[in-house]
Amino acid sequence: MAHKPFNNIQDLQYFGEFGGVNPSISDSSTYTFLSAKTMFDTFEGNTEGCYLYSRHSSPSNLYLGEALAQMEGTEAANVYASGMGAISSVIFQLCATDEHIVSSRTIYGGTYALMKNFLKKFRIGTSFVDITDLEAVEAAIGPNTKMIYCESVSNPLLEVADLKALSALAKKHGIALVVDNTFSPLGIAPAQLGADVVIHSLTKFINGSSDCVAGAVCGTTEFCLSLKDVNDGAAMLLGSTLDSLRAASILKNLRTLHLRMKKHSENALYLAQKFEGLGLRTVYPGLASHKGHALMKGQMNAEYGFGGLLTLDAGNLETANALMEEMQRNNLGYLAVSLGFYKTLFSASGSSTSSEIPEEEREAMGLSDGLVRFSIGLDNDIERTYQIMLQCMEKVGLL
Ligand SMILES: *Cc1c(COP(=O)(O)O)cnc(C)c1O
Repeated sequence: MAHKPFNNIQDLQYFGEFGGVNPSISDSSTYTFLSAKTMFDTFEGNTEGCYLYSRHSSPSNLYLGEALAQMEGTEAANVYASGMGAISSVIFQLCATDEHIVSSRTIYGGTYALMKNFLKKFRIGTSFVDITDLEAVEAAIGPNTKMIYCESVSNPLLEVADLKALSALAKKHGIALVVDNTFSPLGIAPAQLGADVVIHSLTKFINGSSDCVAGAVCGTTEFCLSLKDVNDGAAMLLGSTLDSLRAASILKNLRTLHLRMKKHSENALYLAQKFEGLGLRTVYPGLASHKGHALMKGQMNAEYGFGGLLTLDAGNLETANALMEEMQRNNLGYLAVSLGFYKTLFSASGSSTSSEIPEEEREAMGLSDGLVRFSIGLDNDIERTYQIMLQCMEKVGLL
């Protein structure tokens, strides 16, 4: 693949105000203008080279946005106070009352709840479909549909979306393909495969230190500017802007993302193969048994592997809970939601991050009660981790 995401980040070089090797952090909410005329022009939308107010943009946010745009191969990127802040801004920018979304049914629980429940207030409807069934996706597109929404690798079922095919469908109908790429930064570059807008929860792998929530929208310069338009930009007017101090710390963490993704993937593949070898029901895109394995291979940047997430079906919620508690007692990681941390994180998706999805719908999509989602950490000795996990599995009766 032509786009080598990390090479582009590698080429970025910053100089701080006093020659520092890190850019200076912008510690201001508002900015002075040398002339009153410039302030007027800025409000008229001519913001080139001028800062106005930090809800609109700040130097620190622009630096982080620039690096993320380099990563995704898009013209521009905006950063937000959370992944949901990014997602809601994009939806409100692209959809109005009586318009419609076609979305994958296996998406982040918060996004699902936003579309299913909250957007009702604005009569923005969503059809939830099996995103791997292209005929079903196309059949759901109507005259008022504005976007196809999906995750490149879905939460929590790890379904792989065929981004090239979805992009062709979106183009055929003149609508946008919006892709949440939170699970596969660097591994998949959706814009290179035809996505119009790429969203990230920076909270996860990109920041990688579980110390803040943040989000990003990567797309054309025109779209990114429209989101922060002072008159009708959803992000500017709903106000989910990221704080400059956090933008600066996320930019520093982004610099090790390539090393971390390789290790997360290496460790996850190791464990997935071992779990499957034990006869446990394991879902990981790197396994030949995974439905989306070939598709993933065809659209990923191989050097970053198949990602850090895998799921294991413990059969029932009791066993799942016992296993997670036992693993936590053995310092293998944390019984916690979220992902992308240096330690392994595990949660039972059905009763946590996907609990927004009604039980019968969870069943229809194969999200069973005993499903444990693992975000595999950066353990240096994964073989030892596996040996301890085996003991935990035996203790709770899974093996
Ligand atoms: C966590 C997550 C979100 C939401 O991001 P926040 O930063 O928690 O607002 C959206 N999509 C996916 C796939 C996620 O994992």
